Formats: sequence, C-alpha cells, structure tokens
Amino acid sequence: MSNNNKIGWRFDNTYSKLPSSMLAKLPPTPVKDPELVILNHSLSKMLGLDFTNLTNKNLASIFSGNLLPEGSDTIAQAYAGHQFGHFTLLGDGRAIVIGEHVSKNNKRFDIQFKGSGKTPYSRDGDGRAALGPMLREYIISEGMFGLGIPTTRSLAVVKTGEKVIRETPLDGAILTRIAESHIRVGTFQYAVVAENKKNLKILFDYTIDRHYPHIKNSKTPAIDLLKIVINKQIKLVVDWMRVGFIHGVMNTDNMAISGETIDYGPCAFMDTYDPETVFSSIDQYGRYAFFNQPGIAKWNLARFAECLVPLISEDKNTGVQIATEIVNGFSKIYQKNWFEMMRKKLGLFGEDANDEKLIVDLLNWMHKKKADYTNTFCFLMNQNFKGKKIYNDESFLYWKKEWQERLKINGNSSEESLKLMRSSNPLVIPRNHKVEEALDSANNGNLNPTKNLLKILEKPYEDRKEINEYQLSAPPSNKIYKTFCGT
Ligand code: AMP
Ligand code: MG
Repeated sequence: MSNNNKIGWRFDNTYSKLPSSMLAKLPPTPVKDPELVILNHSLSKMLGLDFTNLTNKNLASIFSGNLLPEGSDTIAQAYAGHQFGHFTLLGDGRAIVIGEHVSKNNKRFDIQFKGSGKTPYSRDGDGRAALGPMLREYIISEGMFGLGIPTTRSLAVVKTGEKVIRETPLDGAILTRIAESHIRVGTFQYAVVAENKKNLKILFDYTIDRHYPHIKNSKTPAIDLLKIVINKQIKLVVDWMRVGFIHGVMNTDNMAISGETIDYGPCAFMDTYDPETVFSSIDQYGRYAFFNQPGIAKWNLARFAECLVPLISEDKNTGVQIATEIVNGFSKIYQKNWFEMMRKKLGLFGEDANDEKLIVDLLNWMHKKKADYTNTFCFLMNQNFKGKKIYNDESFLYWKKEWQERLKINGNSSEESLKLMRSSNPLVIPRNHKVEEALDSANNGNLNPTKNLLKILEKPYEDRKEINEYQLSAPPSNKIYKTFCGT
C-alpha cells in the first residue's frame, strides 16, 4: 500500500514463520461499510506511526482490515486453555494478527484486529464483535495503561457497517489491539498436546528470543523462564489488587507470557470493598473473584510449569519436582509483594511487626462498612470528595489513630509518606457506571463522554478539578453490576 511510508509501518513478522500447525494463514474478512470511531494518537506516536494525514475513510479501510498494509502477513494463532478449569482447544476465533511492527526504539508489537471475521478456530462463533465491548476494551485497557499497569493497548475502533446478532442486533466493530505478543500459557498448552512434539521446543526458543533473550545462553533456560513468568504475573496481580481490578476470566488462554494484562472481557473495577466481588455473569461460583486472583494465577502458572517439565529435565520425575518447588514458591513471593504494595498504599516505610494487622484491620473495616476501596485511600490522602460521613465511624477513627502512630515510626516526613501514597493510590479508576454511561452514549453516536473519560484516565494520580465527578461511587441503582463474556 502506497501509504506505508508515510504512516511508518515497519513490519518484521516472525510468528507467521512458526510451524503451520500453530497458526492459520488467512486475511481478515472484509466488512461492508467501515467507519472510524476512535483512533489513539498518543499510542500511534509511541509506535512511531503517523495517521494524521489520512482521511477518515482511509483510516476506516485500514483499521477494518479492508486495506492491508504492505508487509503484513495475516494469521490466526492456535492455542488451548483451561476455561474455568476445563481444558479446551481454542485459537483466535475472531482475531487476526496482521503482523509485528517494530517501533523506532526497536520494540516489537503484535498488531491484531479483534472482531475481524471467522477463522478455523471460530467453533460456533461468528468471528465478529460488537461496538460496546470493543470500546469497553479500549477504555479499560487504556485506563490500565494510565494506571501504570502492564497491558495490551488499543489503537483504534471502527464500526463495520454490519450488524452482529447477540441477544439483539448490535453494531459490529473491530478493535486494533497492540501487544508485546499474544503468546499465552495456553499457547504452550497447545504445543504440548500437538502431534509434533518438536513444537514445544520451537515455541520455547521463540518466546525466549522474543521476550527474554538474556536467558538464551543460560544453562537452565526453562527454569529461568518459569521463574520470570511467575514473577511477572505476581507483579501484575499485585497491581490489579492495588487498584481493585477484577479480570473476570483468568483462563490459562488469557494469561500472557509477556506479563501484560490481556483479554478485557468481563473485567471491571471494584467500588465497594468486598474480597468476594465478582462481576462476570458466567462466573457463578466466584472462581475469579477479587481475592481469588492470586490463587488462580498460581494455578495457571502450575499449568505453565507442567508444559515446561520436558524442557526442565530429561528425567520426568526430576522435572516435575523442580517445577513443583518453583510454583510452590509463588505464595511467599506474592505475600511479600502484596504487603509491600499495601504498605505503599498506606504511606508506610520500612517494616513493623504490626503492619499485617494494620492492613488487614483496614480491609476488614472497609468490608464491614461497605466502604469504597479507591476512595478510602483517597480519604487517607486528604482528598476532598463527597461521602465522607462513613469516615466518622468510631472503629475507623480508632484504626486511623493506630495508623498515624505507625507513620511516626517511619523515620520519614509526612510529605514523603503522602508522596508514596500518591504514587500508589489512583484518584480515579474506570468506574463501572461511568464506563457504562460512556458506552451508552457511544452506542447512540455520541463519543464525547468516552473521550472525556479517556482524558481523565490518562492521569489517574493527578489531582485536578475535572476529576471530581469521576470519583463518586456508583449510585445505589448501579450496585448490582454485571458484565458479560458473550461479546
Ligand atoms: P475469550 O472469552 O474472549 O477469551 O474467548 C475464548 C475463545 O472464544 C477464544 O478462542 C475466542 O477467539 C473465541 N471467541 C470469542 N468470541 C467469539 C466469536 N464471536 N466468534 C468466534 N470465536 C469467538
Ligand atoms: Mg481470550
């Protein structure tokens, strides 16, 4: 395509060269009448891409997949996964990676269209996506980026001009997702069950080359990879717990080896603190509830470790023993990281024997009093917002006194404590009622609330007048919030 040079695409496709059983080569299915809904200019810039001189019509052709850039090599990736604990063969059923773009600072990114039509992995699905869920992914993934949490990102959304049939006919849409890669725990699970046993080693070498080249010459690369991925996932889940994010569908196919948050389906942010919070309508037993997330991450990582056993040792028993020991180390590292994170949220430097009690007491109080998770920390940072009455509660005041006593033994000034808190506690999160409000308007053709919300979410730690209305908890009518996977 002649626009290539002007836009700045630098494709260097490597995944498409992997064994053919790991992927299917096919283009996105063209759409009828694409229309650009939103384009992420700051992300374009970060990628070294420039779309500013293109017409909306041109952009719609590009981001719908109707007009593929030169150098693209379009594929659907095969993978497997434990969905709610049950193993299934999967794959990109409605997504196409058009290629790997290498940005100016030589970082490699998958460019993927989500909602781009049927593939050999579509099973009974239509390969398509609706506008609401694609914009929802755009808002929340960009929100996560603003929060400083590793995540796939969203470059554009287009409407397809076609309807998708869900419970009712909805506007069809395609999201352009940017990821360090789409290699999942489930990709390894797929390689393990594949007929060609060589695929596991090929995927393993590919992953190390692409993500962790520093362990390429290690004597124990499989052990190193397992440890790295465990540590990345621990950091990620601790970040989720910090901001009250509930992923909602932590199946092994939705866990990225890069350590990025991936797959924004039924995810949502917790408002009222309750460790058992579940938003997803299909998560009937609370498998992916807020406080289960670390346990589930460990479970998924155990599945990853199982895949690596043959690469850890030629002797199966030895391999299993080593892998088990490493996975069992998860809990201790997680606890340490979680406490460190919670201390920061409370502005505590150093460690004190009573810290655990202090932290747990606050969480229990929030739970009992149905306090807003984000706003409680805002209150402790002297944020001015409505709904402060709850903090006159006697047991809270008692806790606060204990906390203030603990702050004194910091050895740091109160300014330093506040600074620490300010860097750990967002003032705004993508609140469910605000996200829904934005999506409702967008579905009616008004994108302004979405753009305003995105603007606020760019700098969630920064105090500005404009954030006030985004800090309020949901009105009582919104309290039974449900999210859906059938997107
Ligand atoms: P997810 O719940 O988004 O992680 O998706 C699980 C699996 O279902 C993946 O293999 C998806 O590609 C596939 N899938 C989800 N929605 C559709 C759809 N509308 N058409 C085809 N496949 C789909
Ligand atoms: Mg998925």
